[in-house]
Amino acid sequence: MFPLSNPDRLVIDINNSDISFKRSSLPKPFGVIEAIRLGQVKGSSRVVFEFNESIKPAKIFMLTPSGGFSYRLVIDVARAEDKVDNNKAINDKKEVTKKPLIVIDPGHGGKDPGAIGVSGIKEKVITLSAGLELRKQLLATNKYDVYMTRDKDETLSLGSRVKKARDKKADLFISLHADSIRKSGTKGLSVYTLSDRASDKEAEALADRENKADIIAGIDLSAEAPEVVGILIDLARRETMNYSGQLANLLVQELRKEVTTLPNTHRSAGFAVLKAPDIPSVLLEMGYLSNKDEEKLLKRADYRKRLLEAVVDGLDNYFDQKSLAF
Ligand SMILES: [Zn+2]
Repeated sequence: MFPLSNPDRLVIDINNSDISFKRSSLPKPFGVIEAIRLGQVKGSSRVVFEFNESIKPAKIFMLTPSGGFSYRLVIDVARAEDKVDNNKAINDKKEVTKKPLIVIDPGHGGKDPGAIGVSGIKEKVITLSAGLELRKQLLATNKYDVYMTRDKDETLSLGSRVKKARDKKADLFISLHADSIRKSGTKGLSVYTLSDRASDKEAEALADRENKADIIAGIDLSAEAPEVVGILIDLARRETMNYSGQLANLLVQELRKEVTTLPNTHRSAGFAVLKAPDIPSVLLEMGYLSNKDEEKLLKRADYRKRLLEAVVDGLDNYFDQKSLAF
């Protein structure tokens, strides 16, 4: 168990355990508790309490079984003593701490509609609605800065999406999509990261479809191909790919609780839009517009909201882990 600051958090790791709840069954945060999150970290369960003011654990003890309850771990927390002269320094420090910048990339747009759903809905419409909802949720946490590669219906090349993220010095890049395939029975969400060799044939075919966006939108690839495609696999990029993999796993962990996912939910292939060498990047295929039921769900704002809440939980867990890494 250990405390973290900025925001103030208490992290409890329980070894050799697997506690997994849907977010709707977690108790509602109240009082000094701002948020409660659960996650799995290397075979342990992690519970994170986020506080809206500075706290410290005051007393920790076990209760033996009684009154129908089993063994219970009790943690009393108290307000951290705020010395008057420390206050200013603490506030100043909070102001200079930079929030992580998350770049949201709603797939397709403008001349490129993306996939077309069974009822005729265009992928570019679903990805933009999802992107705007994700931005709203991320900003509401007060923990992140957000930049969108597009917040309206416009044509953007894949390379310019990556370039925007790099120009902004993003800490993370998340591209939103909703696929369509011939097999109308297939449904489920999947999360993709970049690799030189595709994890499977379907992932490779998907990357081919997504990479065609530039051709569909009539963008001249020759101008940007050498820069984007010709990036060397150096150490920095390998580290970025590790982070991307971690991020994808944490997203899958949360999303699995809320929505239908494809088998082997985390897949990889050569997506042009994931090629920033220095920014952990993932591509989220939120579901299949070629499946009648999933298309219906993806068109619903409440479904997208639930799906993206799980994404925010996954991102929170990712940044928690990153701040623990040093
Ligand atoms: Zn797409």
